[in-house]
Parts: sequence; structure tokens; C-alpha cells
Amino acid sequence: MDVTFICPNCKQELEADTSLAGTQIQCPSCNHTMTIPEPDVHNVKIMNPNTSSAAARAEKHFSVPVHDGPSEILIKKPVKKEEIPADGKRHLRTKTIRRVDCIEVGHDRFDEVVSKFLDKIGDENLVSLSTVGYTYIDIGSQKLLTDFGVLILYRAYSSPASATAG
Ligand SMILES: [Zn+2]
Repeated sequence: MDVTFICPNCKQELEADTSLAGTQIQCPSCNHTMTIPEPDVHNVKIMNPNTSSAAARAEKHFSVPVHDGPSEILIKKPVKKEEIPADGKRHLRTKTIRRVDCIEVGHDRFDEVVSKFLDKIGDENLVSLSTVGYTYIDIGSQKLLTDFGVLILYRAYSSPASATAG
């Protein structure tokens, strides 16, 4: 049987097995330390067996993590460490791809060129991608045209050859 109680700090409705009454827990919502109360006939919610299962599930949407020790972080975010080779330095690089440079005999290969470049650097090295506008003179019409391109900011390890400093 479960005892339902309210976190005195953040009013989050919590639920725990009655066998855990008297156990100190931390509110999973606000980390407030409290003691699971003894089941009180007047306070214990009795589930009506006739209520729909959806309503029952809504009641039980929250479960209480219980642990023995004193305060301890319940949820630890995994720290993702990047593997950097000892002899390699990571540098920010930029690459600008203009759409006009990707047009070959009338075919617009801009998307293809950008996709290939992104594949090459790998999505874990992509820092940002922003559009850039520019103007250029169209040779045929001698008119100033506006076009766009992308500015790709990415990280790359310097090659061992270029890392040697005189
Ligand atoms: Zn709380």
C-alpha cells in the first residue's frame, strides 16, 4: 500500500510505500529533505477500483526515489569528455561556401557541396553554421547580383606536420 503526501516545500505530490514511513528522503522535485509520514487513514488516498486506468496512471505519475544515506545527488548527469590526442591541438576553423561557387554548368550543387563538407568534418566537430549573404557581378549580364552561402565554424585537429613550430 502506498502513502501519498505533499512536499512541504514545493507542494509536489509524492507517493511511497507505507513500509518506508519514517525514512528520510529528498524531494525529487526540489531536493527538500523530509520524512515519509506514517499512513494516516484520513490522508491516505484510497484508489477507487472503478476509476479508469488512465486516471489511476495519472495519480501514479510520480515515484519517489528512496536511498539510505544522507544527502546525495540522486541524478548525476554523465560528463562527456572529449578525447583529445596528446599531441593534437584542436583549432576552430571556418569554411565559407558560396552558392555561386557550387554552380556547375547550370546545376546548383550547393546543397551537395555543403553536405559533403559536413560529412567530412563530422557532426561532432560542427560548431555552428550560419548563412551569409554577398553580392557579386554576374559576368554575363554585368549586373550586381545578391546570393547566399554558408559560413561553417568547426573544430579540427591540426595535422602533426603543421603543428611543428620553428
Ligand atoms: Zn519539494
